[in-house]
Amino acid sequence: MASSAYIGRFAPSPTGPLHFGSLVCALASFLDARHHHGQWLVRIEDIDPPREIPGATHSILNQLESHGLHWDGELLYQSQRSHAYNEALEQLQQTGLLFSCDCNRQRIAELGGIYDGCCRTRQSVTDAALRLQVPDAQNGRIVFDDLIMGRYEQNLCCDVGDFVVKRRDGLISYQLAVTVDDQFQGISHIVRGADLLDSTPRQLYLQHCLSYHHSQSVTEAIHYAHLPLATNAEGQKLSKQNHAAALPSGSEVDSLWFALDWLRQAPPEDLRSESVATLLGWAIDNWVLGNIPAQMALPAGQDV
Ligand SMILES: [Zn+2]
Repeated sequence: MASSAYIGRFAPSPTGPLHFGSLVCALASFLDARHHHGQWLVRIEDIDPPREIPGATHSILNQLESHGLHWDGELLYQSQRSHAYNEALEQLQQTGLLFSCDCNRQRIAELGGIYDGCCRTRQSVTDAALRLQVPDAQNGRIVFDDLIMGRYEQNLCCDVGDFVVKRRDGLISYQLAVTVDDQFQGISHIVRGADLLDSTPRQLYLQHCLSYHHSQSVTEAIHYAHLPLATNAEGQKLSKQNHAAALPSGSEVDSLWFALDWLRQAPPEDLRSESVATLLGWAIDNWVLGNIPAQMALPAGQDV
């Protein structure tokens, strides 16, 4: 393994304040970086204005600071990165793999969400999305070893299909923006929620199409660790969408302790009466990523 510096990141979308699940992600990426004496960057993924909540960025940053999760360097705002995304689109255009698609939602839905490539050979049209062509079934297999989830495999052709890199409404897709920014910030380790596990092969493919890793196989360039999702007793993912409990202010130590417990770091009970700094100091020293299981559910009746 190359002995390059560890650079991790937390990349929230400003769609609401942090809840328990997003605190777990922030904390895990922070601890993994600090345990490895690495940098920890924060990027605000504000490229989808219709989904954003005014003031959410401010709330998230305040919550990170009150929980002692201090980041390195400048914040990166995706809303200020359109020049970089457009450059990447131009680079993709030169590969001949981009095409415009004006298929409507209903047609895509009829395909089960897996695009069939029908617009590949059409002339470029206006008022259309831009899709990136994926390899055929024989060559579309992408495999990587996740540090928590283990080996993960997806066939881009059969499981995803040609995917959108620029939306019909002109907005850049999450997949493209995150790939460009991870490269720009020199990210070496990505610790994030398992809801993004099935996005990772698309991002690895984009890294390949954008020639980000000349000397290595794409699967070795960035290390991925996907955290099991916090689910309630009914197996529903806890998120802002289904009203996961907000983090109570004034209870930062407790929230962090429960997040550590959730991450199976076995925090001693007496840390609950300590300061945020003391708790985090213990957590950095004693961090074991390997303790995190690939799957977990809350005991019945426990709502975090
Ligand atoms: Zn189409």
